[in-house]
Amino acid sequence: MQSTKSGGAARVAIIGAGIGGSALAALLQRAGYRTAVYEQAAQFLPVGAGIHLSPNLMRVMRRLDVHRRVLACAQEPSAFLNRDAHTGAVLYALALGEAAHQQFGAPFLTLRRGDLYAALMSAVAPGTIHWGKRLAGLDWRGETINLAFVDGTHAEADIVIGADGLHSRVRTALRGFERPHFSGQVAFRGSYPRTLLDALRPDDLTKWWAHDRFVLSYWLDRARHEFYFAAMMPQAEWPIQASSMPGDLDEMQAHFADFHPDVRHMLAHAPHVCVTKWALFERPAHFEFGTGRVALIGDACHPMRPFMSQGAAMALEDAVIMLRALLGSNDFAAAFAMFAATRHARLAEVHGVSAANTFMRGPTDPHWVFGYDALTAHASPVLPALPVVPAMAMAMAA
Ligand SMILES: Cc1cc2nc3c(=O)[nH]c(=O)nc-3n(C[C@H](O)[C@H](O)[C@H](O)COP(=O)(O)OP(=O)(O)OC[C@H]3O[C@@H](n4cnc5c(N)ncnc54)[C@H](O)[C@@H]3O)c2cc1C
Repeated sequence: MQSTKSGGAARVAIIGAGIGGSALAALLQRAGYRTAVYEQAAQFLPVGAGIHLSPNLMRVMRRLDVHRRVLACAQEPSAFLNRDAHTGAVLYALALGEAAHQQFGAPFLTLRRGDLYAALMSAVAPGTIHWGKRLAGLDWRGETINLAFVDGTHAEADIVIGADGLHSRVRTALRGFERPHFSGQVAFRGSYPRTLLDALRPDDLTKWWAHDRFVLSYWLDRARHEFYFAAMMPQAEWPIQASSMPGDLDEMQAHFADFHPDVRHMLAHAPHVCVTKWALFERPAHFEFGTGRVALIGDACHPMRPFMSQGAAMALEDAVIMLRALLGSNDFAAAFAMFAATRHARLAEVHGVSAANTFMRGPTDPHWVFGYDALTAHASPVLPALPVVPAMAMAMAA
């Protein structure tokens, strides 16, 4: 069934106030859409480990006018060093800092995931997010979509966008239940205060590459007070239902015992309580974008291995392209088809290179990833560009 409501007349329900959902809500509100977000968590909790904010993601933050907020608390690495895990030899160094502004038009940052969430939340109008609303199911057979929540309450919308992550309930409503695929990779993750590093002074951002394992390390804040690492390795099976479990320090150190002494030092100084072990899940690259008046963005649509650190960036790019597609058509189904057509090639490429885990292992031109501008990409008469506001662009470059 087609619908021709648009802009302020359309009621948009977004499921999930994560990275993609909160960004999409903020973008749609600025364009005049009546937007409600339903989030299963009872309240906002700035949880999570570390995250890269690459320039393609920072362009979206700038559009939302929250880039200064993350610039104020994030670390801006001077370079992204890729080193041989055993010898420490530099395999490829990407200059960042001022060079990132010049090459990619936006900064490259590292910070706490909770700080990214907080910045995105600040862009969403108060009262938009309905906390404690876990979607149980939806019925879109009529003109109005009915949403049912686990707490027994209901809501209505004209379109629904599932931004509800890896185990998306909206995806299940569209396709039936399909368990995400365990990639055969796990990650030990931890963060701890600089004071525990003793005399070691790690580089700002380093990926240590071995044949089948790697360790990523960086700072979570501008003052370099908190240090973060993710140590990834193959594992045949993931034996429990939950995505993570407490990390065993002895197990972690044994698996990376052949790494460079600096890496061993970083891992050995992590306090036990700070280390968790995560299963890495994915879905195949024939993405489910949705149909009719129900669409998916972010991990709900295209979960991928985190080896390019681009999952959140893809969710934010999705949000911008979704807004542009909706602005480009009065017909929701056509807009969602346009969204899917625009995103497919980009996502397939990032999904594939992430799975191969080759990005920046040696000399690399990263422009195709970091130079992408979702505000203007694939500009066409039906997919309007969202120009950067000049004043914001100037503040960004300052
Ligand atoms: C080890 C690791 C490291 C990573 N590092 C990076 C990095 O450095 N850079 C990067 O860009 N990406 C990184 N990623 C990927 C990134 O975290 C994800 O791709 C990103 O969070 C996806 O955003 P999203 O909005 O789609 O989903 P999420 O951020 O997961 O948000 C989904 C939201 O939906 C809510 N929800 C779920 N089900 C329901 C329901 N039924 N009803 C209502 N609400 C619901 C959840 O509570 C949550 O708030 C990493 C991933 C991993 C595993």
